[in-house]
Amino acid sequence: MGAADGYTHDRLCREIELLMKRYPFVVGSSIGKSLVGRELPLLCVGEGERSVLLVGAHHGMEGMTSLLVMRYLAEYCLAVEENRRIAGIDAALLFGRRRVMAVPMLNPDGIELQCRGCDPKNPLTDRLLAMSGGDFGRWQANGRGVDLNHNYNAGFAEYKAQEAALGIRGGGATRYAGEYPESEPETAALCGLIRTTDIAMLTALHTQGEEIYADYNGYYPPGGRVIAGRMAALSGYRVARPEPAACFGGLKDWFILAYDRPGFTVECGLGRNPLPLREAEGIYARIRRLLLASPLMV
Ligand SMILES: [Zn+2]
Repeated sequence: MGAADGYTHDRLCREIELLMKRYPFVVGSSIGKSLVGRELPLLCVGEGERSVLLVGAHHGMEGMTSLLVMRYLAEYCLAVEENRRIAGIDAALLFGRRRVMAVPMLNPDGIELQCRGCDPKNPLTDRLLAMSGGDFGRWQANGRGVDLNHNYNAGFAEYKAQEAALGIRGGGATRYAGEYPESEPETAALCGLIRTTDIAMLTALHTQGEEIYADYNGYYPPGGRVIAGRMAALSGYRVARPEPAACFGGLKDWFILAYDRPGFTVECGLGRNPLPLREAEGIYARIRRLLLASPLMV
């Protein structure tokens, strides 16, 4: 997997600039910076009082999900501009009733490592090389070996107790939860945004599996089960439960636990990570109705 096929932070920033130039109603800002200092952009579209949040790319091999978020915003913005319906949704109505917020790429450092390997100027190079054995092709964690989607405060202690049994002894390519919840700048920035914004519903995009997860350890928040079913009907994906080790410490887990509101993980596409970017358009075709219609379900 060469750099040419990767959807990296550089590419995201270029596309954000183009989107904002093209559609003046897109409001861009940043929720903070990654460990290495990359901006974590936030894009907002719409004037509704109720906000929904879409988050892409928690994981190094899942840069495609950033592309999917950008593809969605581009299609939605065009429909707003042209004042027409898309996927059965009146774009102007959605724009007036909801504020769609998107953090397209939460883990730019991990994606950079996965796509391009370790930059020798990075002060953590020696540690990262020791963690990875020099091969970052299957890197999921952030820029210091913490798996961001295990770093939220939901069952954190229970997960830490299992780490040794899972063979996890410290930072690495995947599944290390970090020393404490929100220890990483990326998760702390995102939780900060959520704490200071009234978010009615949250959806995190991952690859892969064509599945939707909507519960925390078997618990569904009000509306969660029904909305998941409607998302499944719109995408052809199935509502499922993640494997036990993936049950704790995730963003939707924390959101459900902390706010008792609908939170979802959508596992986009099918195959072996990293999915090739040439599949993105076909994957987008499957999830576009889910993404366009779900903000109005809450
Ligand atoms: Zn993932």
